[in-house]
Amino acid sequence: MSAIVIDGKQVAAKVRAEVAAGVAELSDGGGNAPGLATVLIGNDPASEVYVRNKRRACVAAGMTDLHRHLPENTDHAQAAALIDELAADPLVSGILLQLPTPPYIRSHELLSMIPHRKDVDGLTPVNAGYLAQGVSSGLRPCTPSGVMMLLDHYGIELEGAEAVVVGRSSLVGKPMAHLLLERNATVTVCHSRTIDLVAVCRRADVLVVAAGIPGLIGADAVKPGAAVIDVGIHRGKEGLVGDVDAQSVIDLAGHLTPVPGGVGPMTIAMLLSNTLTAAVRQQAPEEGPVLNRLTGRAAVPHPNEEMK
Ligand code: ADP
Repeated sequence: MSAIVIDGKQVAAKVRAEVAAGVAELSDGGGNAPGLATVLIGNDPASEVYVRNKRRACVAAGMTDLHRHLPENTDHAQAAALIDELAADPLVSGILLQLPTPPYIRSHELLSMIPHRKDVDGLTPVNAGYLAQGVSSGLRPCTPSGVMMLLDHYGIELEGAEAVVVGRSSLVGKPMAHLLLERNATVTVCHSRTIDLVAVCRRADVLVVAAGIPGLIGADAVKPGAAVIDVGIHRGKEGLVGDVDAQSVIDLAGHLTPVPGGVGPMTIAMLLSNTLTAAVRQQAPEEGPVLNRLTGRAAVPHPNEEMK
């Protein structure tokens, strides 16, 4: 039987429409439209495309595009000064530092300067720490949050499920593992030193692949009926391909995300959702219906947490 193909475009469109409605509600209630400051340093063509797509989606959702571009020869101090400026600006709800930055920029230092309440990528040490500690009110990384939304949308059971994450990056693998753990899955994380990747993956009811290697996962690594989520995206001779060899897996998996049109569209949708959440919290710290609907949880600060 052929897998159910997960339609990321459709789920992302739903999230984006909900965000647009939330933005309108915020503005109609006398608040400011959320402002997203994407920060691009240098002229990496792929990063330029990603940033352009984020800015377009932000405007389409009714948000204010506060993009900043620093030229290729910008030094670290100048980049740090920009982050400080955006951190202090009340019209900036969210700051997104586009990665990778040029080699002479210390991106980790810049990330840690972003106030956690404006960290719409969920990559600052504070938000990564909240996620690792299971504190629900921090902003979470967009791609793994998008994967969770897809799994939920398709009713894929996580409680007690065997979940295997391939990849341990700070951007995808590690936060993904924490999110699955939070939902009571039994989580295993594989990486480049895993001895028998195929055997571990074959245990998975839910297999999330984010290794950055085209076609890494084939039929031998998939348990029949598993939900297979492919985070990889590569430009091959025959168009875009993922980390999963979709052709060999399609008749085996229970669910499969296509590339493109699976996880990809969710990343920007969750960025918009985080930006709205950040704006609502900054403007109405007492919480409101918009925020509760967005996050699906009352964002009561954790006792150990300073939401300043
Ligand atoms: P991403 O941006 O998708 O998170 P990265 O390139 O930052 O991707 O990280 C790739 C991750 O994939 C690393 O954690 C690495 O250990 C893992 N990985 C690379 N090769 C393999 C492999 N052959 N088997 C399993 N995991 C791998």
